[in-house]
Amino acid sequence: MHFEENLKLLISSRHLFLYIVTSEEERLEYTINKISTSMYVNQTYCWDFIDGYYNNPNYFAYAQRNPLRALELVEQIDSPTPKIFILKDFHLFINDISVVRKIKNLFKSLKNSNTYIIIIAPEIHISPLLKNVITVLEFPLPNVEEILFELQRLFAVLKINSNVSLQKLAVACKGMSIEVIRRSIAKLVFTPRYSSEILRLIAEEKKQFIQQTNLLEFYSVNHTLDDIGGLCCLKQWLKKRSYAFSKQAYNYGLPTPQGLLLVGIQGTGKSLTAKVIAKQWQLPLFRLDVGKVFGGVVGESEDNIRKIIRLSEDLAPCILWVDEIDKAFNRFSSNTDSGTTNRVLSTLLTWLSEKKQQVFVVATANNVLCLPTELLRKGRFDEIFFLDLPDFHERFKIFQIHLMKVRPLTWNNYNIKYLSELTENFSGAEIKQSIIEAMHNAFYEKRDFDNEDIINAITDIIPLAFTDYTAISSMQQWAKLGKVRLASR
Ligand code: ATP
Repeated sequence: MHFEENLKLLISSRHLFLYIVTSEEERLEYTINKISTSMYVNQTYCWDFIDGYYNNPNYFAYAQRNPLRALELVEQIDSPTPKIFILKDFHLFINDISVVRKIKNLFKSLKNSNTYIIIIAPEIHISPLLKNVITVLEFPLPNVEEILFELQRLFAVLKINSNVSLQKLAVACKGMSIEVIRRSIAKLVFTPRYSSEILRLIAEEKKQFIQQTNLLEFYSVNHTLDDIGGLCCLKQWLKKRSYAFSKQAYNYGLPTPQGLLLVGIQGTGKSLTAKVIAKQWQLPLFRLDVGKVFGGVVGESEDNIRKIIRLSEDLAPCILWVDEIDKAFNRFSSNTDSGTTNRVLSTLLTWLSEKKQQVFVVATANNVLCLPTELLRKGRFDEIFFLDLPDFHERFKIFQIHLMKVRPLTWNNYNIKYLSELTENFSGAEIKQSIIEAMHNAFYEKRDFDNEDIINAITDIIPLAFTDYTAISSMQQWAKLGKVRLASR
């Protein structure tokens, strides 16, 4: 349900204490005022710690630096007209015993009044004693329509003359707060106004904005399907869904793809595939390091996963790349964290099965056998692909791709057939590494690298497959049993 409708519904159904999570105070205040007017709530009282009540002349500067008095005023204004009290940063005081008690008392005494208290805070921080009293809701970042409206206003006010499509720009700004969008657009007054420049600038601003959240990483991608050697079946799957996020696909009635799980030992091209998907489908790519979800403070990990889900939905349509998911959720490791891992996993699983937003999840894992079985169940991902070690033809293609990149004119002089024969059990990353190693050796001797250099480098590399043999053969077995789908055939 849309935030405004939801808030109206909660107020009309007499939810007296609301706790709204956002860092966009100004936009939320504006939204609350809009809702109050539409619901004929004529009086709003806003309080913050420094200024006290600041928007009502009768109570100007009342309860400065005194949260308890701020609550007391709610009772003192004894009129039957509907009122909303907006309290900022109250999460910082909500664990104080006198504040807790006051809120509980108010909850009883306000039952028959027409008074509502809205706490605005950047994070959820509520005493367990108030769990039944307070209703929490999250204020989403602006949607494309709201951003478009703001962009039209900004372009007119700042007199920015550009050929950029505002609709395209609004989509590019999705996931940023209005304040950040304003600051970014203000920069356009001093920079070139070509469409591509503007979109690049916004992408850069967005990258910084996401980095500040410390939850996701924004990846700019340039890899295409042609950069992947082999993995034909997977590539075909991706090609067929190239326009699955388009309006046409929606009108056709196609359900949006939900996600992929890519499994295979290190260096088989899982990360490369995540990047290629973003480029092929023209969606922004955000990487989640699952290790970052887990924090030391009680409840922090659960809070982090909720924030990540919310942020990725705010950024939709996008690709969420959950890298090395098996590192965080391993069914063989004995978790001694009083159920935190299980709770985080369960939140993630529920979201994977029920998500409505266009967030395509690409999870990667080195070993599928370590993953909890719930994660592999139908409905979580559209498909689970196993990226096996490349066969001769695939190795040939991988050599070709990487040699063409570094020697676009002379790549054909290398004996790729022989090199591919020599590299049985090598992963794509190891093939690439053999070329780089050969180049280093030859560069050191101030000459171009030749076949012999690559052969020498190959003999020096011990493929990871030799140490990870059990993992590979078990995954191959799974592929034979049809539990995972082979990416190459
Ligand atoms: P890790 O688990 O270590 O992250 P990975 O399976 O994600 O490994 P990548 O990081 O995608 O492997 O591979 C490393 C590099 O190896 C890629 O950037 C790419 O250059 C090369 N590579 C791997 N597989 C292929 C392939 N099939 N075709 C072309 N290049 C490949």
